[in-house]
Amino acid sequence: MLHFSCDACKRPIDPHTGTRHVVKIEVFTAIEDDDACGCTAEPGEHDEADHLEEMQDLLERLDDAGDLGDDTRSMRFDLCDDCRRKYVRNPLGLKKGKQLDFSQN
Ligand SMILES: [Zn+2]
Repeated sequence: MLHFSCDACKRPIDPHTGTRHVVKIEVFTAIEDDDACGCTAEPGEHDEADHLEEMQDLLERLDDAGDLGDDTRSMRFDLCDDCRRKYVRNPLGLKKGKQLDFSQN
């Protein structure tokens, strides 16, 4: 029997008493290929080389952002009910409600 624990709060999720929620995140690069669509220029080897260069550029930029391997493109997390509720309210962990953090003690 598999045991799951919440990836956010690390509490074990009992399948009998708790609900396990799965969060799947896919991260991929949106490639703006307006220049390479071949609408104005004839498609040819030159375009392809250009495109490859852009790809290389993108990959380098991704490297700068951290060690993003192939497996980081698709992520999967298990969340308990509490954390699921928190997560859907703020999936990116952005600080919207400053008052919750520092303004008051
Ligand atoms: Zn949790």
